[in-house]
Amino acid sequence: AAAPSDSPTIFDKIINKEIPATVVYEDDKVLAFRDIAPQAPTHILIIPKKRDGLTGLSKAEERHTEILGHLLYTAKLVAKQEGLEDGFRIVINDGPQGCQSVYHIHVHLIGGRQMNWPPG
Ligand code: 5GP
Repeated sequence: AAAPSDSPTIFDKIINKEIPATVVYEDDKVLAFRDIAPQAPTHILIIPKKRDGLTGLSKAEERHTEILGHLLYTAKLVAKQEGLEDGFRIVINDGPQGCQSVYHIHVHLIGGRQMNWPPG
């Protein structure tokens, strides 16, 4: 896993359309696009357009509560849009032990197959 960092990430390039991504949902605050290395038939990343210090969930402050809720609500909307009526998995990896690799907070929406619990 990459070391935590405040530097710009690949997700800034996606937000700025400098590299392509398959966007499935967008509003003024969030962007949802397909993961480049999908771990299931549906694997979408939901990110804030402005990182505002949220490199990861562990950096959350009181001012971030609205965007955090917005990210989760967007996951619900996109799950419905993707037809995941039998269920889905939401994941937020944080830090090296959490296998975070991109330091711009993102919600993974994973579905379209049976998930396992507990995770590895
Ligand atoms: P993390 O490990 O930080 O929780 O998840 C980062 C995710 O971003 C990984 O699932 C990885 O496949 C995805 N990813 C990394 N680079 C790109 C990219 O350039 N485009 C897209 N669509 N996904 C990416």
